[in-house]
Amino acid sequence: MADKLNSFEIAQRQLDRAAAVMDLDPTIHALLRTPMREMHVSVPVRMDDGNVKVFRGFRVHYNDALGPAKGGIRFHPDETIDTVRALSAWMTWKCSVIGLPLGGGKGGVICNPKEMSQSELQRLSREYVRAVGDFIGPDVDVPAPDVYTNPQIMAWMMDEYSVMHGRNVPGVITGKPLVLGGSAGRHDATARGALYCVREAAKRLGMDTAGRTIAIQGCGNAGQYAAILGQQLLGLKPVAISDSSGAVYNPRGLDVAAVVAHKRSTGVLAGAPNCEALPPDELLTLDVDVLMPAAIENQLTAANAGDVKARIVAELANGPSTPEADEILFDKGVYVIPDFLCNAGGVTVSYFEQVQNAYRFYWREDNVYELLDERMTAAFQAVASAAEKYGVHNRVAAYTVAVGRVAEACKLRGWV
Ligand code: GLU
Repeated sequence: MADKLNSFEIAQRQLDRAAAVMDLDPTIHALLRTPMREMHVSVPVRMDDGNVKVFRGFRVHYNDALGPAKGGIRFHPDETIDTVRALSAWMTWKCSVIGLPLGGGKGGVICNPKEMSQSELQRLSREYVRAVGDFIGPDVDVPAPDVYTNPQIMAWMMDEYSVMHGRNVPGVITGKPLVLGGSAGRHDATARGALYCVREAAKRLGMDTAGRTIAIQGCGNAGQYAAILGQQLLGLKPVAISDSSGAVYNPRGLDVAAVVAHKRSTGVLAGAPNCEALPPDELLTLDVDVLMPAAIENQLTAANAGDVKARIVAELANGPSTPEADEILFDKGVYVIPDFLCNAGGVTVSYFEQVQNAYRFYWREDNVYELLDERMTAAFQAVASAAEKYGVHNRVAAYTVAVGRVAEACKLRGWV
């Protein structure tokens, strides 16, 4: 069922709903329903066996009224142009809701990085940048990591772009390794920002987070740090976490350090110490206080949203809930922190990275955390107030805040 859902249609439906609530000008609504421009590329890569394989890649600028496009690049076997369009739309709303001077973009390559060697991945990363080279740049569109891309891949891409321009251009990409102009605090920023939101949500609900249980779907960068920082910052008790190999569970609390160490050394969660295996679908409906979908799109749907028992759903992934799930969760009184607010910590620190690259002056980790907390908390409060004002759930409320700013920028530029 999840496979049949089109994320871009979902993103458009979400926008349509907000447009009706906020009485959005129909011309602006039409402009904001589709990407402003997109690039489709063929990327020939010499594989280790000597053959050349041709990959398909995309880069989409959804809207750049607020500033240069910004958003990650995903390497995934199931990537489609519509997924990239949806993700670029969500980046537009994400940058806007946080108040960043950035538009929304996204990129993707259809490939399976798990089956590629490091040298193949390096050649693919460089060839992709050559193919989209005229479409990106520090003042045009600034990529970053996303699903199955990482700081090493950002380093290769930044280097390739720098070679193309005959000078160092660190500001073309964010999420770089520290030594190449990355920002302190970027590695765990997505999870950290989400936990600041959970803290604020818990305050609103009168909930003390200490000792409360959390289940996390997804054990990539964001999911791993959510488990670690959930304990450290809020005293949460992670009881379940999953990856594509399965889910692990311990109702008394996972040994997070051991589980993460196992995942990092073996590449899979299966077989992690001091926990039992759990059917992955059951993780989403466990009796926990906080549920964090931290994997991919369309995980909470009409089929399972009614069974969610968590009090707070903090969407660390992009697009994890369908519009049907939104209504079901709202009616049940589940407090959803919507994706483009909840997971905006990553791009917020990416923005800090751009600023540091421009000034060639690098901040301490505590500076980053403080400014991140300020931005996330202010955005959370703006969304919560909009939800009260319009009597809608938090996703629609987040859209009203984000779309309102982009619409104003389009108008002020004289586009509509
Ligand atoms: N890929 C991340 C996201 O979806 C980060 C984007 C960025 O840092 O530009 O928010």
